[in-house]
Amino acid sequence: MTGGFVFSEKPIELEAGKGAYLYGADGTEYLDFGASYAVASIGHSHPAVTEAVRGQIGQLTYVQASYPVGVRTDLYEKLAALGPGDVDNVWLCNSGTEANEAAMKFARSATGRSKIVATKRGFHGRTLGALAMTWKDKYKKPFEPLAGGIEFVPYGDGDALAEAVDEETAAVFLEPVQGEGGIHPASAEYLRAAREATDDTGAALVFDEIQTGVGRTGSLWACDGVGVEPDILTAAKGIANGLPLGTTLVNDRIAEDAGDHGSTFSGGPVVCAAANATLETVVDEDVPGNAAQVGEYLRGELEAAVEAHDLPVREIRGVGLMIGIEVKRGANRVLKNLALREQVLALPAGRTVVRLLPPLTIDEAHADQFVDSFVEVLG
Ligand SMILES: *Cc1c(COP(=O)(O)O)cnc(C)c1O
Repeated sequence: MTGGFVFSEKPIELEAGKGAYLYGADGTEYLDFGASYAVASIGHSHPAVTEAVRGQIGQLTYVQASYPVGVRTDLYEKLAALGPGDVDNVWLCNSGTEANEAAMKFARSATGRSKIVATKRGFHGRTLGALAMTWKDKYKKPFEPLAGGIEFVPYGDGDALAEAVDEETAAVFLEPVQGEGGIHPASAEYLRAAREATDDTGAALVFDEIQTGVGRTGSLWACDGVGVEPDILTAAKGIANGLPLGTTLVNDRIAEDAGDHGSTFSGGPVVCAAANATLETVVDEDVPGNAAQVGEYLRGELEAAVEAHDLPVREIRGVGLMIGIEVKRGANRVLKNLALREQVLALPAGRTVVRLLPPLTIDEAHADQFVDSFVEVLG
């Protein structure tokens, strides 16, 4: 076996990126409406992030997290200020799955309980704890036994959730919009029901905002948009615009008895510099506002195109720039044709959903370009 063996590679070699575009080794320009799973949140090779990383790597590349460093203290302060309500204690790590592992540990430690309620179709990562809360058998079966004590409930059913949560429940894990599971937004009532059920029993409410966070749904956090505050919020993906950073934000109740946890690379100065530059851009340039506005425009144009050209589309779902297009034929064929014939990149979410997670800085012209290509491929 030579080279990588886990990922199947796509037949496009990439060399550079700028804003909403990626460039192939042969010079071909691709419109990137996947942002590599929402990671390039403010666009590829954003100059503010590049400059911050260049400066930091030359000054201090790494020092263990037990020595304070200005750039990390800045990030703690930013995340504490930006976290919803009282969710202002910050743990830093290197990925989404690690952020969820930490959330599981903190919730179990703080409540002294072990049971966790998660949702059907949910995705929380691929390490043995986070994987246990992930729904799809394909991801889990070959690796069992996983962490125990997980109960699954149908997503969106407040009564079923309330029934599953009891005095033994440490935490309820929810994505405010299910991403990997096909782009299914939760209603505000569902998230309120989850808050109520966890308040009634003393369980921790965890929002996995790894895909929905950092402005994706039109507010900084998806839960801000519906006004429901969790006890724990996890984020990663787009938070450092391409450098590996995850974070677990917790309120005081959880922080007070979170237990012992650690990670060597936690909060390395270079990734912190990238995250600071990303978050400053997100806030200063009202990136969530742009995602809300361009997202609404894009969904409107897609609906209109489906109608006008009678395209084989069952449903368009989403919030902000987190959009799922449920197609009648396989999503993978649509994605392949988009990439190879139209030079437009997007993502699947299951077999039938074309998932759009473009950089949050796109404008209406980018949205038009995507819709034209989509019509070309499906028409
Ligand atoms: C991607 C994702 C994860 C896992 O993040 P990694 O950085 O790949 O470990 C967890 N939860 C959600 C909702 C995700 O979208």
